[in-house]
Amino acid sequence: MRNPVEGKDIIVIGSGIGGLSAGILLSLLDFHVTIVEKNPLPGGLMRSYSRSGLDCPVGVHYVGALGADEPLGKMFHVLGIPVEELFTPMGRDGIIDRYIFDDLTFDLPVGLDAMEARLRDASPLDRAALDVIMKNLREISRQMKAPSFLFSQENPFQNMDYYQPMGELLDSLDASAGLRSVLAVPCNLIGVPLNDCPVIFHHMVLASYLFSSWQLKEGGSRMTDVFVKRFESLGGKLLLNDGVKKISTREGRTTGVVLESGATLSADGIIAAIHPKILLGLLEENALREMHRRRIRGLRETEGVIAVQVSVDAALHPAIHHNIYRLHRDEKGVIQDGIFYQLRGGSRADTNHLSILTRSLYSDWRPWEHTVTGKRGHDYEEKKMTIAGDLLKKAEEIFGNLSDARILDVYTPLTIRDYVNAPEGACYGIMRSSRQLLKAMSLNNLPIGGLCLAGQNAMAPGVMGCLFGAFNAVRQITGAGKFAERIG
Ligand SMILES: Cc1cc2nc3c(=O)[nH]c(=O)nc-3n(C[C@H](O)[C@H](O)[C@H](O)COP(=O)(O)OP(=O)(O)OC[C@H]3O[C@@H](n4cnc5c(N)ncnc54)[C@H](O)[C@@H]3O)c2cc1C
Repeated sequence: MRNPVEGKDIIVIGSGIGGLSAGILLSLLDFHVTIVEKNPLPGGLMRSYSRSGLDCPVGVHYVGALGADEPLGKMFHVLGIPVEELFTPMGRDGIIDRYIFDDLTFDLPVGLDAMEARLRDASPLDRAALDVIMKNLREISRQMKAPSFLFSQENPFQNMDYYQPMGELLDSLDASAGLRSVLAVPCNLIGVPLNDCPVIFHHMVLASYLFSSWQLKEGGSRMTDVFVKRFESLGGKLLLNDGVKKISTREGRTTGVVLESGATLSADGIIAAIHPKILLGLLEENALREMHRRRIRGLRETEGVIAVQVSVDAALHPAIHHNIYRLHRDEKGVIQDGIFYQLRGGSRADTNHLSILTRSLYSDWRPWEHTVTGKRGHDYEEKKMTIAGDLLKKAEEIFGNLSDARILDVYTPLTIRDYVNAPEGACYGIMRSSRQLLKAMSLNNLPIGGLCLAGQNAMAPGVMGCLFGAFNAVRQITGAGKFAERIG
């Protein structure tokens, strides 16, 4: 963004965790903030939904680094969001994730030292590779816990080796296929293949879950309520069910927005906590040079998922306190496909809730590209339910007989696309790959005065990435000096 904003009136577009966090931070700094949301309910991907009395998650299955001295915990503290009220720590059985390959099962434990011991045990021939990886991981973890990590404008990671793809690093270290496949999983959590995932993102994701891992106590709707209540208690205004149709600019600066209803709102600054391609569509043709427009249009998206929400008999299938990944890899250790399972307590004592998620290409849903949710027709429903039935069958390999299971809901990339305006239903927005790192970073310096990006497309995806993005956007609005003085 060209300059810090002079006035006090800010509009935030989008009420996902990125938009709400930016709104809370700005309100804490005495700005007058209006968050504008196209949907009737706030929260975007953070919000859960209810089917047959069970709370079904969308975009928050587990998060890392919520401890009091860990980056996400510190950011929640600054926002005034109570961690213990919303989250419960995972790993009470010593495991955060279980990765099941055909010929290997790896349990990701809590803590860096425990993980190192387990990796050295599982991969004794990878000693030299693990020396390098653990040294980097420890260095990045140390920096993530330093106060300057959140509050300084400087990039703490000046080591250029951190920007090479993780796959390339593992090649240079001659890592075994087993080690490679275990280390590939954190890349999946931000939607980037191992061979294209910058070391820094891989290590930050892995480190954050190793610090501490947490599940929601009640669900994403409750989490959304807490964020909204905090924002409104600070004087913020939330406008629902009326999306932004156009961003107005004059002489290279934003002046306000026009809503779908025709209403206009003026503002000194705008934070767009939405996808950059959607933002592009809200700008006047001449607001950005063709070079910038082309760069944004050309950004590659992360992949979508199909998700199956299932209720099971709690007596037959007790809750499991870690996640399960069933993974298939090739002989080089590259993960070909995988399924994520989370079996957790439901809101009813007799019923537990199994979420099953796996990759689903947007192109597979192309025949229904021009339809809208609820009106996609019989063929779409049939395809969706066939895939869901197959996934449930496969889940029996892990959970045993599931004849008691009932499919409550299935969503596809088209659902996510229409729900939050995510092009191609991309789960994690644009891809944070080494290949388009610079293009993605340039989104944080939009050449329009008073306009900046937040949300998962600004700095990084996931709950932690969105909070970083919100901190960074607000730093741009206030100017770095004022931000460090008031928030740091
Ligand atoms: C299936 C799935 C599983 C995930 N699991 C995890 C997980 O376990 N842990 C984790 O940390 N992360 C996870 N993520 C990622 C995480 O959910 C996202 O990174 C995060 O929620 C994105 O928040 P956001 O604010 O950037 O965007 P969103 O939540 O997409 O919010 C954007 C908001 O903007 C609104 N909007 C769009 N266009 C307009 C407009 N023109 N006018 C007004 N409003 C508009 C949308 O309706 C939406 O409410 C998952 C994501 C998915 C899809």
